[in-house]
Amino acid sequence: MLNTHVHGDHTGGNAHFGRKADIIAHTNVRKRLSGNPATPKEALPVLTFDDSLSVHFNGEEIRVLHLPPGHTDGDSVIHFTKSGVVHTGDQFVNAPFPFIDLGSGGDVAGYIKNVETMLEKIPSDAKIIPGHGALATREDPKKFHRMLTETVSIVRKAITEGKTLEQVQAAGLPADYKDWGAGFINVNRWLQIMYNNLNKK
Ligand SMILES: [Zn+2]
Repeated sequence: MLNTHVHGDHTGGNAHFGRKADIIAHTNVRKRLSGNPATPKEALPVLTFDDSLSVHFNGEEIRVLHLPPGHTDGDSVIHFTKSGVVHTGDQFVNAPFPFIDLGSGGDVAGYIKNVETMLEKIPSDAKIIPGHGALATREDPKKFHRMLTETVSIVRKAITEGKTLEQVQAAGLPADYKDWGAGFINVNRWLQIMYNNLNKK
C-alpha cells in the first residue's frame, strides 16, 4: 500500500491494511506518523524512501516520486506507467482551493513548483486522480496552476505594499474565484495560508 502523504484522510486506513499489506511511504510520512503517540504500530510504513522508488506489481511498473516541500514535506506522486494513471495526492486537488499544511513542512512557492513539475512529467493522455475532487485530465492541473500563480501574485503585491492580513482578507479575491472557495478552504483561509507563508520570506 502506498501513502501519498501523512494526512489522516490519506493514511487513516493504514492500521487496518497494515496488518495484511506492506505500507510504503516517504521517510517524512513515517517520521510524522511515529511522532504521534496515537498511531498504532501496524499503521507505520515499513518501507520508506527519500527520492523515488518503483513497485513492480500487477503487470506494470508503478513509479513513486517524492516532491520537495509543498502540500507537506513528505508528498509523493504515483504513476501507474502501463495503465496511464497518475495519482497526485494532495499536490493537486480538482477545483477547490488547496490546503497547504505549513505546520507539516508545507510551502506555498514549493507547492506551485511541484504542480509545474507534475505538468512537465505527466503524459498528455494520462488519467489523473486528484487528492480530492473529480477525475481529471491534464487541463485541470493547468487551470489549477493558473489560479495558484494569480492568487499568489495578488497576495505578494499586497505584502510589498505593507498590507495586513485583515486588509488582504477585506479586499478579497476577484469574483471569478468565488467557486474555488466553496470547499474545505474558503477565500479567507486561502488568503491566510498564502499571507502567513509568503510574509515570512
Ligand atoms: Zn492532505
